[in-house]
Amino acid sequence: MPKQSIRERMLAKRRHLAPATCFSRSLLAQRRLLQTPEFQSARTVGLYSPIMNEVFTETLFEVARSEGKKILYPRVGSDSLEFVVVADRSELAHGRFGVLEPVGEIVLAATDIDFLVIPGVAFDLSGFRLGYGKGYYDRALAHQVGRGVLAGLCFDFQVLERLPAELHDIQLDLVLTESRTVNTGKQTAFRH
Ligand code: ADP
Ligand code: MG
Repeated sequence: MPKQSIRERMLAKRRHLAPATCFSRSLLAQRRLLQTPEFQSARTVGLYSPIMNEVFTETLFEVARSEGKKILYPRVGSDSLEFVVVADRSELAHGRFGVLEPVGEIVLAATDIDFLVIPGVAFDLSGFRLGYGKGYYDRALAHQVGRGVLAGLCFDFQVLERLPAELHDIQLDLVLTESRTVNTGKQTAFRH
């Protein structure tokens, strides 16, 4: 099935989640992510501001902050994402497309992030990801050769066995949902 029809099917399904369901499953998925040794040992973590029933990330922010980790959020730059340091959630403001974006000025390279949490429309068991079709994360992480851990965060129904993947598609190390922790087994060598 081509990427676009999978996107439409998944987005329709996610749109229909009740707010309470979205909230409770988000809490479980975040708790699962917080239990990974990769998150626990990370000193710098990248999060995202959820839109359209993406898994919430507030709990990740609170725990990361209480543990003194450096936290970054993505902002849409000229044609790619930039990652900006956020010390307090008041430093997030409505940007383009109604997404809460960081207003700060400390921009770090993606390669400085130890653990990057990535939203998506669908993920597969090899760590491939379907976004909204603009390739923002693919471009931002194209040169991220084996540096930090890349973790997809989504609901169970968004995980498929195999997605169509192109050469430019990034591959993630972990996929976390409310009931699964998938270690994709991605080999660093695979990225070269
Ligand atoms: P998404 O990852 O958001 O689901 P796609 O993987 O379909 O979207 O990518 C959308 C477009 O982004 C691609 O057709 C391609 O033109 C562009 N793109 C993705 N990665 C790169 C890259 N590393 N360099 C240049 N263009 C890219
Ligand atoms: Mg892609």
